[in-house]
Amino acid sequence: MIFLRMRKLLFLLAFPLLLFPLQARAATGWRLPILMFHHVQPLTKRLNPFDTWLSYSPKAFEWVARFIHDKSISALKMADLLTFAFDRPAAALTFDDGYEDFYTYAFPILKKYQLNATVFVITGKLDVPGYLTRVELLEMQASGLIEIGSHTVNHVDLTQVNPQKLEEELTVSKKTLEALTGAPVTSFCYPSGRVNKRVAAAVKKAGYMLARTTRHGFSVNFQSPFLIPTIRMQPSVNLKKVESWWGFKFAPAARQSPVSVPAGSSDGRPK
Ligand SMILES: [Zn+2]
Repeated sequence: MIFLRMRKLLFLLAFPLLLFPLQARAATGWRLPILMFHHVQPLTKRLNPFDTWLSYSPKAFEWVARFIHDKSISALKMADLLTFAFDRPAAALTFDDGYEDFYTYAFPILKKYQLNATVFVITGKLDVPGYLTRVELLEMQASGLIEIGSHTVNHVDLTQVNPQKLEEELTVSKKTLEALTGAPVTSFCYPSGRVNKRVAAAVKKAGYMLARTTRHGFSVNFQSPFLIPTIRMQPSVNLKKVESWWGFKFAPAARQSPVSVPAGSSDGRPK
């Protein structure tokens, strides 16, 4: 009798220990990689080292898109993060500067795999050669897949401008995009990742709900919505790295065409 009671007691004592790993995981949540792309374009020799560093090839991009699709990883718009519970594997694909190659190369692939993404537009560059046009932006918005966020009017270092200029860069870009699309613009991205307390406070005051930095890291909760970390998608980020972010392994057949690491990658300033 005593023996049975002790077994019951031991079980009751051990039970919370068995549960503990699950609780710890639930408290932390799935880590969320927010991928930062600039150019999606073929890595040809005509690109200088800095542009190469800022580029991801369409072929490599399709590998990443297909992986996210095939593994049923939720592709979130940045605005989705405001309500995301971090309770399942997810990713956010973000594209800085609003280059036209986002429309030419990335958007068709996003459509093919039905993945959401966010593009951060420099409004002063709209309709400038090499950058997105207003017409392209509206077409992408109409697809329902693309969130349009602000990346200021002139891509200035916001930590170096006076309060008036700071407010103007934040509000004029927001209003320009809202007037064009008719949708609220709530996501922001700091040019070159330049941010301090004053800048982050101004972004919040201007009516944005969140802001992405260029600081490396995964989101594991949403405690600092104005200092969201990211992962820079430069050519050296191959598929092996990508698959490790969610703990999945690739099927052997899919390993036969690894994403190549092109020569000519170099260091450069964050853009
Ligand atoms: Zn930028």
